[in-house]
Amino acid sequence: MISVDDYRAQVTELLGRRPAVSRPVPDCAGLVLAEDVAAPVSLPPFDNSAMDGYAVRSADVAGASEDSPVELRVGEDIPAGRVDVPALPAGTAHRIMTGAPMPDGADAVVMVERTDGGVQTVRVFAESAPGTHVRRAGEDVARGTVALTAGTVCGPAQLGLASAVGRDTLAVHTPPRVLVVSTGTELVLPPEPLAHGQIYESNSIMLAAALRSLGCEVTTVRSVADDVDSFRGAIEPWLGGTTPVDLVVTSGGVSAGAYEVVKDTLTGAGVTFTKVAMQPGGPQGHGTWEGVPVVTLPGNPVSVLVSFEAFLRPALLTSLGHTDVERTRVRARLLETLHVPAGKRQFRRGFHSRTDGEVTGVVGPRGGPGSHLLAAFTQANCLIVLGEDVTEAPEGSEVDVLLL
Ligand code: AMP
Ligand code: MG
Repeated sequence: MISVDDYRAQVTELLGRRPAVSRPVPDCAGLVLAEDVAAPVSLPPFDNSAMDGYAVRSADVAGASEDSPVELRVGEDIPAGRVDVPALPAGTAHRIMTGAPMPDGADAVVMVERTDGGVQTVRVFAESAPGTHVRRAGEDVARGTVALTAGTVCGPAQLGLASAVGRDTLAVHTPPRVLVVSTGTELVLPPEPLAHGQIYESNSIMLAAALRSLGCEVTTVRSVADDVDSFRGAIEPWLGGTTPVDLVVTSGGVSAGAYEVVKDTLTGAGVTFTKVAMQPGGPQGHGTWEGVPVVTLPGNPVSVLVSFEAFLRPALLTSLGHTDVERTRVRARLLETLHVPAGKRQFRRGFHSRTDGEVTGVVGPRGGPGSHLLAAFTQANCLIVLGEDVTEAPEGSEVDVLLL
């Protein structure tokens, strides 16, 4: 048996690092920058007004107040976007709007609320120290500096900044195209009625949703019978051609029984099958098939999701350039005694809650350890992680919890 951590490292190595690709900025949300983004312009690019009001020379409005306003002739209107801004002669004001360039000679803005709002002449009711309501060129970003560093996750603010410095494309690590394959002669798709012995297929739906949540482009083959020719025939078209998929993820057919179609097809063909010291999700396989990385998961639905959490999610996030690939881990007090098989890391579905001000909170299991108990998973908001070194976690003890 191999440990969870070692197996995770192997899957991470298999997936490697996704190439850097240039993409339009709007399509980069959630992706990781593969380049430093330099600022060829300063932000703001020019000194501009932070208020609607009047650009003035501060010396001209010194001493102005409600009781003794200063009256100035209004020279020009400067709306945002005006590019031919005349200088401000002494003893006058220009009416200026937020974001408009400051005229030469002016060193302050009086907000319109502190004036009578005049158009020919303006009465100013407050003085304005030099620099008041002026946004200086470069005070956000200086031209020539790095605005965003490689490795940054592109959220709304980051995409906004990239656009503000004039970028319309960015180099990012793009998510892989993934083929998800569900194996099992018993699998049926709706609206087909179930015969006794058949079940509705659900793994591919879960995997596709989980993969898409990381940005992957997913194709599914939802029901492949447990024979080698069917399996091979379903997948091979996706491995060659002009646009092979980047990754194949299968479920089912990797355990110790007979009719283990994934194992039977891929053993000796570049994929290694192992038992990982975990519950659920012990039987696992990974490798390459005709040059394409393949990760083979067991068939039970809960095993599929736990395997995704334990291996695929961190490996994919790493491949996409993320450095923070961990779920938030907290300690919580167990509400119920749990039993763990010796030497295995057990991932139990749980519900974690915390009252205000509490550091750890409490956690109770949702459903038993059985890897077919999918309904219980829908009630869970975390995985309770019980280590290889324990066989019992008593009620009231503190355990590790991964928040989903
Ligand atoms: P296997 O790993 O192929 O032995 O499958 C283990 C269990 O998971 C069996 O009870 C299967 O019927 C079930 N199973 C396998 N694949 C799926 C699937 N795609 N959707 C729902 N259940 C599945
Ligand atoms: Mg099967």
